[in-house]
Amino acid sequence: MAPGGYEAVLLDIEGTTTPISYVHDELFPYVAENVADFLATRWDEPEVQTHVRAIAEQANRDVEAGIAAATGVILDGPQADSADEVRRKVLSNIEWQMKEDRKIGALKGLQGYMWKFGYEGGQLRGAMYPDAVEAMKHWTGAGRKVYIYSSGSVEAQKLIFGYTDHGSLLEYISGYYDTKVGSKVESPSYAAIARDIGQSPGRILFVSDNINEIRAADKAGMQTVVSIRPGNAPVGECEFCKSSDFMDIPL
Ligand SMILES: [Mg+2]
Repeated sequence: MAPGGYEAVLLDIEGTTTPISYVHDELFPYVAENVADFLATRWDEPEVQTHVRAIAEQANRDVEAGIAAATGVILDGPQADSADEVRRKVLSNIEWQMKEDRKIGALKGLQGYMWKFGYEGGQLRGAMYPDAVEAMKHWTGAGRKVYIYSSGSVEAQKLIFGYTDHGSLLEYISGYYDTKVGSKVESPSYAAIARDIGQSPGRILFVSDNINEIRAADKAGMQTVVSIRPGNAPVGECEFCKSSDFMDIPL
């Protein structure tokens, strides 16, 4: 059934507003290319030290867990590594974790902190599909509210939309949800978002490239559209509406 009569639009990011390759092609390489310089120039800043300590503690847990590639870091006490030694070990640990594509909190924390500088300094720009930007303006202009639901943290979402290749889009977005509200493939997450937005699920349109997310939103009673973009996983035949140009989605 074609969507219509919704009051709010809930958008996924990767594969929906933004190319699915963005994180791997832009955000991860930015960290890989800049982390050595970043640590060298900002080493003494308290926030950098907080991230360094989290990464060192994770490395020590990895050693305890018997992960052969991990190297322990001694941060405190008479046996403590020198600052140079800590920096060398932490840097090689970060490079190893990134190569392995580990989704570890300590690494994500430092990445997010570096991205903030990248966006604010103009080296990073949130990549947006032009029709997604146009549709966000069209929806809000027609009195609909636009919300974001992504597995990236709310903080990271605000950076992507605050510094896009189409300028800041923050004024078009009424709220942000990440996995703190629940997993994107579980229908109670969508029920919780609907309650928070203050609309019945049937008055909310969810757009995502991920068919399992679409199924979960549909199960919660939301209207849905599957985002069709270059590089997205093929969805094949399904009962859901699809769109490769969001300006074609009826109000
Ligand atoms: Mg997606």
